[in-house]
Amino acid sequence: MWIGIDDTDSPKGMCTTYLGALLARRLEESGMEIRSLRLIRLNPTIIWKTRGNAAIAIEAEGDPDYAFRIASDLIEVLADLSCDRTNPGLVVCDGDRPPAAFAEEAITGFCTIEGAIAACKSVGARYALWKNGRGIIGAVAAVAAELEDATSEYLVYRDLRRHESRRYVDPSSLRLAEEMTYPGTWDTCDPGNKTIVCVPHTPDPVLFGIRGNDPVHVSLARSLVISEIPVLEAIFETNQGTDAHLIAGKIPNLEEGRSYIVAGTVASSPKTGIGGHVALLISDHGYYLTCMAYEPTKGFRDIIRALLPGDTVIACGSFKNGSLNLEKIQIISSPPFRVEDAPLCDICGKKMTSAGKGKGYKCRVCGARSREPCISYQERTLHPGWYEVPPSARRHLARPLCRGEPVTPGFPEDYSREDYI
Ligand code: ATP
Repeated sequence: MWIGIDDTDSPKGMCTTYLGALLARRLEESGMEIRSLRLIRLNPTIIWKTRGNAAIAIEAEGDPDYAFRIASDLIEVLADLSCDRTNPGLVVCDGDRPPAAFAEEAITGFCTIEGAIAACKSVGARYALWKNGRGIIGAVAAVAAELEDATSEYLVYRDLRRHESRRYVDPSSLRLAEEMTYPGTWDTCDPGNKTIVCVPHTPDPVLFGIRGNDPVHVSLARSLVISEIPVLEAIFETNQGTDAHLIAGKIPNLEEGRSYIVAGTVASSPKTGIGGHVALLISDHGYYLTCMAYEPTKGFRDIIRALLPGDTVIACGSFKNGSLNLEKIQIISSPPFRVEDAPLCDICGKKMTSAGKGKGYKCRVCGARSREPCISYQERTLHPGWYEVPPSARRHLARPLCRGEPVTPGFPEDYSREDYI
């Protein structure tokens, strides 16, 4: 059977992954076999999310009625039901799983509560909703998701009662864990910005989480971390770091709230605005798209600032409020910069000056004239290739480049990459 749960936390505490890990342990203690524990990230632009729009699913062998009862009881006890934004949902399927298309839409787009209930009914699943029941969307999506590309996260939890106290996790042990296991693990630290990424600052039970390619790498990294004594630990199979949210897009057909991989040509010099946010205008067949590299993306903004009109790029990110929030970018071509200057006089060798708009150049010494400028090409510091935001600014779903280049079915829609090379 599959058990799905979502929307149990509030900004003041709790975390659906903690409830999932605890439920898995309770079911195991009752004699059930736990086959997998999943953490599925859904559309990162959803406004109802508390933090990272995560839902959980457990695959287990056992009595579905019993599992449904234990899961309901845990939700009643642990979910912060006093919070307006906490609207749990629970589903238990012991036959077919809901259609994978539901999960795809929940990860890349928008679903409804009615759609989630219909998906439960279509497979005869048991389900329950608390308050407005929005969590049923994430619960069904978590159970329905097909993980074609899967990664792991080793989550370590502290006592719920300590939710407001400072976490103790030794930073040097985290740095060592990353050094020893990268690129099998990633986003434990952000060496470039000298910050720790894997220890949250929110009042929830997560002490730290190690992300990586598989259970072996994350377990090895975890074994190197020194911290306060945890109360619970679990390894989740996830869609984090897989780019599952990206769909192939084409300017100007991008829809608000979806995330895209999209090609274009730099249309004007990037502009740095108030707060250090950088705006990049790209175009495709006469249509324009603004791509944003916000201040938290730190050094990534220097890459964007170094782009010039005419460079060709492939951009990845979420389309929100009419612009694409960059997660990574591929520079396809950044040809040498063409510089036009006044030529040297053929007769006396002095540098000519402009003879007026559209009139070419004139030598102030001997009076000779020339129509043609002197053309030179400046080599660029920016080279073709992929560039990404630093770990501290990375979206949960964004695939780090240490896992390889993005692979997005259907991209480029009716382009070939060769058009740009
Ligand atoms: P939690 O730890 O509680 O899961 P969270 O940051 O993951 O916190 P939630 O509190 O679960 O966020 O809030 C997200 C809400 O949005 C959930 O009710 C979920 O069912 C719903 N939701 C998620 N993805 C979509 C989607 N694509 N379309 C519509 N609703 C969605």
